[in-house]
Amino acid sequence: MKQFFQQTLKKIIFTFSIVLPLFPLLAQKTESPTSPVKRFFYMGDGSLLLQGQKILYRNLSGEYQEAGLKKIHQIFGANWQSKHERLSLRFIEMMDYLQDELQGGNYILRSGYRSPNNNQNLRNKGKLAAQSSMHIEGAAADLRLKNIPSAKVFEFVKALNCCGIGWYGSAHFHLDTGPTRYWGATTSKTEDKTPQQNSKIILQSDYDYYQAGEKIPLKFMRITQYPIGVPYQVTLVEVKNDSSQEKIRPLPLTFSSENTSQETCTILKNRSQARNISVQLPKELPSGNYALSVKFCNRYDYLQMPETISSRIFKVVQSK
Ligand SMILES: [Zn+2]
Repeated sequence: MKQFFQQTLKKIIFTFSIVLPLFPLLAQKTESPTSPVKRFFYMGDGSLLLQGQKILYRNLSGEYQEAGLKKIHQIFGANWQSKHERLSLRFIEMMDYLQDELQGGNYILRSGYRSPNNNQNLRNKGKLAAQSSMHIEGAAADLRLKNIPSAKVFEFVKALNCCGIGWYGSAHFHLDTGPTRYWGATTSKTEDKTPQQNSKIILQSDYDYYQAGEKIPLKFMRITQYPIGVPYQVTLVEVKNDSSQEKIRPLPLTFSSENTSQETCTILKNRSQARNISVQLPKELPSGNYALSVKFCNRYDYLQMPETISSRIFKVVQSK
């Protein structure tokens, strides 16, 4: 009997010694460290060379690293403490993507994050700083990429059709993850001092990829005047391959607790309220490209503010 047990035990140990090493392989198949959850259309390798520092901000399993992100915030002069004021991950990934794709060296930063006050001070001094600058949204930088001429970066980003790129012929270029647009020395923007009246207002989701049923944090950006009236629901639209749009269904918006109004038109009074909104995707939503359409319910007297805007397109993928 004792011998039987010993043999069984040996068998069990033997079996495990063969099977156990296979588990990491099986685990790799479902969640390979080389192909982490994709959150953005353009992503780097998770390691950014910025101001002479090698910063790991995302690990190989796709988890964002607080220490690395804090370091980037520090270099950018951005506020990490207030969650809704943080730099855009889409922008950080975009910088990383360019560095990897163009095989560039270190990024040398001239201007990163600008608070609304900072930006206004620059404007008062007559500097080239747009009212609706993406620097204020934590999604822009003026910088150069060592070993790569800025002219090359300009052409490369322009062709991606994803972002904002500006280059005036100097060493530095401007990069942002706002709407697709580009400008050079000859198309330089001269902007007058009159308020823009939210003419460039945009809506962005934090990520580009979501799973059906997931909650999407949303931010209104490029607002130049408050307040604005936002309806309690937005319209989910599917964006087809030929870029035609089909209305799917209305989705209720969730606002920050500061907005206690139960009425159908929620008034966003400040930046913090405009950056603290979310929407829940339906669980049964098929894979595809989608956007959210917002019809503002109060535009006050901002004559140039659009009646309706569509968010940046995001992709819905099926949950595993
Ligand atoms: Zn800039």
